[in-house]
Amino acid sequence: MAIVGLLLFIALVVLGQAVGGPPGRSTPPPLPPGELELRVFDVGQGDAILLRFGERALLVDAGPDPQTARQVLLPRLARLGVDRLDALALTHADADHIGGAADILKALPVSAIWMAAKDHAHPLLSVIEAAAHRAGTVLERPVDGQILDWHPAVSLQALFASPDVARGDNNQSMVLRVRVGEADILLTGDIERAAERDLVARASGLEADVLKVAHHGAGTSSSHEFLAAVQPQVAIISAGLGNAFNHPRDDVLQRLRAMGAHVFRTDLAGDVVVRTDGQRITVALERV
Ligand SMILES: [Zn+2]
Repeated sequence: MAIVGLLLFIALVVLGQAVGGPPGRSTPPPLPPGELELRVFDVGQGDAILLRFGERALLVDAGPDPQTARQVLLPRLARLGVDRLDALALTHADADHIGGAADILKALPVSAIWMAAKDHAHPLLSVIEAAAHRAGTVLERPVDGQILDWHPAVSLQALFASPDVARGDNNQSMVLRVRVGEADILLTGDIERAAERDLVARASGLEADVLKVAHHGAGTSSSHEFLAAVQPQVAIISAGLGNAFNHPRDDVLQRLRAMGAHVFRTDLAGDVVVRTDGQRITVALERV
């Protein structure tokens, strides 16, 4: 059950402006106890999403390339005090999601990698697997419906569309359903219409207060049927400014707004930071 009566508080935070401090070095206030933070980083055209609760940290996708991992992701994780990851979830084997993974593994201790179904199609996967092996990181392949062990106060479940009806890497993205208290978050990787249809047909309770919009706002995702099942109040799109794919598409933005969702875009806003104590939700936009 999603939150009834969302209290939405939106703040715009420009970091690195502290007088006398070096640019980009200001430290955000610590995460209050009992709060879950979802941070959709502005990594250009790709996905990298941090979930934090207490001392636990989970990174969902690793951005599009090694340079972005080194110059954007790792400094921002350091600024947040994240010096290890309990898990790195790789939703699917496309470069814009896994391109920075090997560099993350080289720089930070990562207890486990959660990967979608085995797929040797992308050469980066063997590089990531070798880096994980060297680092002693456990490789796990969650299955549809599996409850993932992350933090006892947070329910985390992997969902996959059936490969019989939803073919291709994008449609086989690991979808993550996150719940703390009464607040629900849905992270959809790059699923497209076929996977959305299958999930709507098979998975109950897709309603979510916060939706990471599938596939950077591509027009082949975010069908009316799927959005009607999710009913997001906050919709976050991770896309690169002026990207060659014209993501997000106007029709997707229109569908989201027609559902009454507040839409936030990393290409326009920078990092989108959602916090919830399970009762209320706040959204902050951070430019570093
Ligand atoms: Zn993608």
